[in-house]
Amino acid sequence: MSAHRRSLTGWGRTSPSVAEVVPVSAMDDIAAALDGLGPRGVIGRGLGRSYGDPAQNAGGRVIDFTGLVGIHQLDVDEGRVTVEAGTSLDDLMRWLVPLGWFVPVTPGTRQVTVGGAIASDIHGKDHHVTGSWCQHVEALTIVTPQGGKRRITPSQDPDLFWATAGGMGLTGLVVDATIRLKRIETSSLSIDEDRTNDLDETMALMDGGDDAYDYSVAWIDLTATGRSMGRSILTRGQFATLDQLDAKRRRDPLAFRSTTVADAPRLVPPRLLNRASIRVFNELWYRKAPRRRRGQLQSITGFFHPLDLVGEWNRLYGSAGFLQWQCVVPLQEEAALRRMVGELSASGCTSFLAVLKRFGAANPGPLSFPMPGWTLALDIPADTRADLPALLDRLDDQVVAAGGRIYLAKDSRMRPELLGAMYPRLDEWRRVRAEVDPQGVLASDLGRRLGLA
Ligand SMILES: Cc1cc2nc3c(=O)[nH]c(=O)nc-3n(C[C@H](O)[C@H](O)[C@H](O)COP(=O)(O)OP(=O)(O)OC[C@H]3O[C@@H](n4cnc5c(N)ncnc54)[C@H](O)[C@@H]3O)c2cc1C
Repeated sequence: MSAHRRSLTGWGRTSPSVAEVVPVSAMDDIAAALDGLGPRGVIGRGLGRSYGDPAQNAGGRVIDFTGLVGIHQLDVDEGRVTVEAGTSLDDLMRWLVPLGWFVPVTPGTRQVTVGGAIASDIHGKDHHVTGSWCQHVEALTIVTPQGGKRRITPSQDPDLFWATAGGMGLTGLVVDATIRLKRIETSSLSIDEDRTNDLDETMALMDGGDDAYDYSVAWIDLTATGRSMGRSILTRGQFATLDQLDAKRRRDPLAFRSTTVADAPRLVPPRLLNRASIRVFNELWYRKAPRRRRGQLQSITGFFHPLDLVGEWNRLYGSAGFLQWQCVVPLQEEAALRRMVGELSASGCTSFLAVLKRFGAANPGPLSFPMPGWTLALDIPADTRADLPALLDRLDDQVVAAGGRIYLAKDSRMRPELLGAMYPRLDEWRRVRAEVDPQGVLASDLGRRLGLA
């Protein structure tokens, strides 16, 4: 185990900070990594796919879990796996898809760890059907500053379990977890696609039809204004059954390939992704989609993780980096969503990655992000415009007024005074945290920035 000082960022590369990084690959290493902590404390880190600063700890210690990888136990009949916290969803898919099992929830990249999935209580395109990640965790092993190593379950330790689900690593270090898997007959997805003329048509289709699909997501063209505002490409589907496959795919129905086709260059021209290039990209992307297509077979990567095909694509945003703004507003707040999309489109806000999903029921986690509602997420180059902070602050206010919230795993800039309104059960979460970490040993840049802990 070799500690070294390193500058760390989140995926958006906006606010680097230096910490002592300690890699761990076994339980004993974790105990040693907690020895001799300074006043700035410690936080866990997975693959650094959070956009902002939750896995950073300026002047303190960061435990790098990416070496703590592997399966403890696998029940291939029941679809249950116990894995080390640093195991990535990519590892899980490579091992389990050929056996006919899939992760219960996948985000837009599979380069996230099980520990990171728990700490953010991640959601996927299937939230309206399956909920978020922690609803599929049967038990986890956690190390807390006060209680040491413990195995907890949602039924026996509901307070700590649900405070950890979405607790951004601030209730304990997750060592391993037992997860229920999803049975699949093939590794292909059968996808229906609809190109819509505007936001109202998109939302009406999702409202009326999402329940018939396991997975649903709309890509929104945020550069479109006027009557086309919010025009989208809606893709929905589920894993294909064996009889839906063509002859070629049927030869190896559970085939899974995890590869990148290229790495993004280290040096990119300044402002490669600018207003003009994004407008052109969006127009072409929208036009290339068919008006209506049914039953197209797609791979796991093609449907869930197309961005994973390009290694380190975050470099394309240049040295200034980028941020993601992701909100959710309750289902009855369509008017608020419409206003926000309108404001973003009218402002000329440049984003080629803007997606809309419709969430289902929330789970008991006080800091878990999803609630029944509409979630809008967009990537924005950090250096595009001087008034970006003011624009996003205005949008945050509209989110709060509508009874919604911002996703902490994506945040890098929110005002701390909005946190309590967005997460009204914050004090409940703080009480649990105070029990397991009374000295505030677990600490992160995000925790300090938002006054979370
Ligand atoms: C392209 C892209 C698409 C994405 N799409 C989605 C999406 O669709 N849905 C979604 O929900 N999220 C999405 N995300 C966000 C991502 O799923 C989360 O940020 C996730 O937490 C990242 O996991 P990680 O292993 O990289 O964790 P990190 O980013 O390294 O850390 C995230 C948090 O987990 C904590 N943590 C990590 N390991 C441990 C541990 N062992 N014990 C305790 N705490 C730990 C850290 O302290 C930190 O608070 C996306 C991110 C990217 C880059």
